[in-house]
Amino acid sequence: MTPVLAKLVWWAAVIGWCAIRYPHERRARRTPVAQRTGRWRERLLLAVSLTGLFVVPATFVGTGEPRFADYPFIPALAWLGTADLALALMLFYRTHRDLGRFWSVALEIRHSHELVTTGVYRHVRHPMYSAFFLWALAQALLLPNWIAGLAGLACFGTLFAFRVGREERMMAERFGDGYREYVARTWRVIPGVF
Ligand code: SAH
Repeated sequence: MTPVLAKLVWWAAVIGWCAIRYPHERRARRTPVAQRTGRWRERLLLAVSLTGLFVVPATFVGTGEPRFADYPFIPALAWLGTADLALALMLFYRTHRDLGRFWSVALEIRHSHELVTTGVYRHVRHPMYSAFFLWALAQALLLPNWIAGLAGLACFGTLFAFRVGREERMMAERFGDGYREYVARTWRVIPGVF
């Protein structure tokens, strides 16, 4: 693995990520929304997350900036990051498949929304966020730059911290005891840990 190859791997994964999301994004636009939560706060959090997961690393990959934060490239870490990226993409695909038309980019309840508790949602309540954390970790392993590498973890971590509690409250309001029982038997992000 070389630094250039690591950057190409990152770009290829971005294309894969967009290809997985695109059909769901199109369908989401046509699916009626019953309830929206914290519209402007959601937009701000999504902008922060996009900055760390895409804008900052894409700038590094495209221009090499910010150079002052570079550190020596370690091929073994980049290989680990590549494997981690593949895992993130697979999980991202599975979560979209299992959540189907109930997915939304911001916090929303769809018309005739149902609680999904099967597939990757069987043991973990937020597997799509697990996929984003895997992606952010892979970015840190692939890009030898303290800012570009760690921006994803910092920015997606911010979205997660300010969103997950509100998402669970919204789901509990909508699904009542059904959701509370689901919470009691599942993990948030990492099975057996958190
Ligand atoms: N937090 C989940 C989903 C992210 S998409 C994950 O990480 O996998 C966000 C939307 O998914 C929310 O607006 C909510 O309406 C919906 N959602 C979250 N968990 C759900 C579930 N178990 N069943 C159905 N919809 C769910």
